[in-house]
Amino acid sequence: MKSLVYLACCVLLAACSTGGAAPSKTVQSEGVVGSDLTRPVHWMRNSAEFQAAFLQTYALAGEHLRKRVEGMEPGTWAVAVDADETLISNSEYEKALVELEQGSTDELWMEWVTRRAAPPLPGALRFLDLVQDLGGRIAIVTNRKERDCPDTRANLEAFDIPFDVLLCRTDSREKEPRWESIEKGTASPDLPPLEIVMWLGDNINDFPDMVQESRFSSPEAFGDYGSRFFMFPNPSYGSWEANPFD
Ligand SMILES: [Mg+2]
Repeated sequence: MKSLVYLACCVLLAACSTGGAAPSKTVQSEGVVGSDLTRPVHWMRNSAEFQAAFLQTYALAGEHLRKRVEGMEPGTWAVAVDADETLISNSEYEKALVELEQGSTDELWMEWVTRRAAPPLPGALRFLDLVQDLGGRIAIVTNRKERDCPDTRANLEAFDIPFDVLLCRTDSREKEPRWESIEKGTASPDLPPLEIVMWLGDNINDFPDMVQESRFSSPEAFGDYGSRFFMFPNPSYGSWEANPFD
């Protein structure tokens, strides 16, 4: 199997088995619709719109956070932030998949994770600094597997991304039990019970009581977005991929 290292070598040498030809535009992902990562990855890596969307969303989250925690005791509250495509970018990995003309595999993903090379997304560091300045705690709740947690922690530290607790996936992809552990004070021996005042993510499942079926609900079901919930755009992958193409 071709590896990410293989790809890096090809890029450096500008010569590989494909003769440096443009990558195929057919990359199968796991989704029902799964087809082509080229355009979404191009948008996420090379568009001003992507930068603007992230900066805008983090700026709005910061503004709302200031109001939300007014009068709250420092050290009593937290924000719950997803990692991939919310705090940190894996677009380098996705670009490699396009170049390799294949979908993500566990082997390639692990190779990427151990590189600890996912950088912070636009606006993320400024927002996290604000959380700390306002007296909040940062809980990163990710569905990266427990196996990937040490490298993920090292990745975050390598880019000076602050956090108070990192909760990876154990048995379930459900994040609810991990949010509850933050609120009960059992998430980390270093943390007391904390009220989660804000959730940030790129997947509908990064938010309490929200699921793909919520798309059939009235706009009121999305009433927390823009105040307590903040959603970031991710057109390259997500739980939405399994929805029927209609
Ligand atoms: Mg994510």
